[in-house]
Amino acid sequence: MRRSTFLMLSAAPLLVARPARAQSDADPATSSNRPALRVLLGAGDASPAANGTFAFQGRFYRGSFTRLDDGQIVNLVDLEAYVSSVVPAEMSPHWPPAALETQSICARTYVLQRSDPRRAYDLVPSELDQVYRGIEGESPNATAAVSATAGRVLRYNAAFAQIAYSSCCGGHTEASSDAWSSLPIPYLAGVVCTSCSDSPHFRWSMSLTLDQVAQSFAAPLAGLGVLDDLRITARDPSGRARAFELLTSAGSTVVRGSAFRRAIGARTLRSLLIMGLQRSQDGTAMTIDGGGLGHGVGLCQWGAHGMAVAGASAPAILAYYFPGTVVEDLER
Ligand SMILES: [Zn+2]
Repeated sequence: MRRSTFLMLSAAPLLVARPARAQSDADPATSSNRPALRVLLGAGDASPAANGTFAFQGRFYRGSFTRLDDGQIVNLVDLEAYVSSVVPAEMSPHWPPAALETQSICARTYVLQRSDPRRAYDLVPSELDQVYRGIEGESPNATAAVSATAGRVLRYNAAFAQIAYSSCCGGHTEASSDAWSSLPIPYLAGVVCTSCSDSPHFRWSMSLTLDQVAQSFAAPLAGLGVLDDLRITARDPSGRARAFELLTSAGSTVVRGSAFRRAIGARTLRSLLIMGLQRSQDGTAMTIDGGGLGHGVGLCQWGAHGMAVAGASAPAILAYYFPGTVVEDLER
């Protein structure tokens, strides 16, 4: 389970020629008249291999490849083959079929919303978009879920929905506008989630030394003496910390919640859903009691797991976490 994605990348034009779309590289099992996706693999040599695949840096990929003017290799791959490799990287392939189908529809919709023919490629194969490892990333369970939902996408008012997901929301998903200080999106406003308590991250506790915090905020704390306490001064409607006040021997400074988590490290501070924040008895550390893992916007993956175990279908799960959206066929 990776970190979650949202459409945060800039769409700055790239000064490289756009490779021609491949016409005949679709996986025969999922071939369609859609143009191939263009996934940037990076610098290096690629060489054709058996059965319509090619090799690049020790991995095999479906489809074909092209080389950009700057020498980087781009994989031209069928949408469904791409999604088949992405789903197991973003969600355990051992999860129930409806959860994997939910992730498949999210992955497919994310790609289509993100693709921009004016750019030299559609996606990068990392967590900046979605993790893609070619054929070695595939798993039979996930491939079955992708096939079961082939060509199905999430739409809102006839447009592709903006997709966001994270591992565990801790009990309430976050509004995208609160997480990213952006314009509100009706279907990303946050919902109560009662299905993710099986996550190992549903509730957690950690200790953070004040030295760690001070080092992370050396610039804003310059000239303010020694950091000796930390408080949450504002919360989003979901309960997440919107702002922290860093109290020092000579004053205080306020830091946005998202900036705080980024500075401490998103893996160290699992989420901003913090129920308890107390200074340790010796005064050198903060004890933090929190819930969830990730930004909490959009799909709660552990919630999808819980709903799937309880018998919900993928469209029902998506309708719950993205209210007002509908699952439809791409080619209507
Ligand atoms: Zn949840």
